Amino acid sequence: MKNETQHKTLKLSQEDTIAAIATPRGVGGIGIIRISGPKSEEIGHLLFKPKKKIHAFKSHHLYHGDLISLERNIILDEVLLSIMKKPHSYTGEDTLEINCHGGLVVLDAVLNEVLKAGARLAEPGEFTKRAFLNNRLDLSQAEAVIDLIMAKTIRGLGLALSHLRGDLSKRVRSLRLSLIDILANLETSIDFTEEDIHVSPISELSESIQEITDVIDEILSTYGEGKILREGLSVVITGKPNVGKSSLLNRLIQENRAIVTSIPGTTRDFIEEVINIKGIPVKFVDTAGIRDVENVIEQEGIRLVWEKVSSADLVIILLDGSTNLTGEDIEVIEKNKKGKVMLVINKADLPQKINDRDIERILPGIKPLRISAKYGDGIPGLKEEIYNLAFKDKQDDARSDIILTNLRHRIALEEAADFLKKAKENVIQGLSPELAAFDVRDALESLGEIVGETTSEDVLDRIFSTFCIGK
Ligand code: GDP
Repeated sequence: MKNETQHKTLKLSQEDTIAAIATPRGVGGIGIIRISGPKSEEIGHLLFKPKKKIHAFKSHHLYHGDLISLERNIILDEVLLSIMKKPHSYTGEDTLEINCHGGLVVLDAVLNEVLKAGARLAEPGEFTKRAFLNNRLDLSQAEAVIDLIMAKTIRGLGLALSHLRGDLSKRVRSLRLSLIDILANLETSIDFTEEDIHVSPISELSESIQEITDVIDEILSTYGEGKILREGLSVVITGKPNVGKSSLLNRLIQENRAIVTSIPGTTRDFIEEVINIKGIPVKFVDTAGIRDVENVIEQEGIRLVWEKVSSADLVIILLDGSTNLTGEDIEVIEKNKKGKVMLVINKADLPQKINDRDIERILPGIKPLRISAKYGDGIPGLKEEIYNLAFKDKQDDARSDIILTNLRHRIALEEAADFLKKAKENVIQGLSPELAAFDVRDALESLGEIVGETTSEDVLDRIFSTFCIGK
């Protein structure tokens, strides 16, 4: 079902040889220039002077030598060079990699030379896009490449690897094969109504459609967990000034990034920091303290805080247990109590003025957690509670071994499930098999979008443009 014209235009741009610095910009032990396309080998021969004479590059061998500037006839760097001949490379094309010293000037100079020798600068994600167009990866695997690079925890990394290895793709392909069977059946019943042609009875057909819908629903049930493992949880720490928000954040990240001070309102804006709780990336947001101020900067900070609060997975309302509850505390509680909240009483190391009954009156059914941000008491329990409150139910919902992490895949699966529900209805109601066949074809198309078999060029461009240059 590949869109032929789309692929023709995309293939045209593959005749170019592309190049980019594949390592992060900055100073490092080594920096790699990656080149892919038909001129790769020629560029290698032009610019590389090996220490030992060679006649032709062998694929997947490492050569030691100098990288030279053709115009100026000088050595730019001492490098290691390798060529991966097609189709046994990441992109499926001839690929040249030059391991240079990792300095900004060196890498820019070598890249410049490569461009003069006939390559053009790669667009973001173009290497992976070529891997996709050359069928080295399907679209969901290509997306997993970026997830792998961006993974924030080992668990997120594991999921990305599973997708990169094709676990999701295999499941989607097998669903598509089952749908093609159903489609064949429906089409047979459109073309032949005679008794002697075997056509599955209605009950069998609707059952097969239901089975596929069930599998899709199972995969969909994992999205809550998958999204959190990929993107992380966002937890806002809120409370009036001086309750210890910055101290708590510091305690959690074990380093003094936030400014801890007893002067109210020093944390002008909010501070975000990601920490790892049981393999989940948890993004903490320390708020500017919620109060009415004339100061424009603080007002802007407060507006941003409310934006963060409304989109957070969990809000921690922090109180200072060493002082009585104030109107300001009640206001914070009232403003936040609708969402998922956790009530935490800080400064448990000091004599306590707030008791659990006071809290029960304001927030019935919520048992506060007591901690000392300053000395670390209660912090492991706090982390456990964050995990349980914000993540555990999502993990419990998941009914499939394939974990969905990507919104685009979720939308495609939901669409497929909707089409299949319609198809089943049509079959049950005994309507023309043509109608059901139509819906099954749409479902096939939706599933095809996940692996990139039916994806439009716009969508492909959008996906690959989120990649970094050199990947
Ligand atoms: P924020 O305005 O809510 O961010 O509060 P800070 O984190 O700046 O803390 C305000 C003051 O309370 C600082 O002097 C902290 O050292 C102190 N503080 C924070 N947590 C604790 C705690 O658990 N125990 C005690 N005794 N003092 C704390």
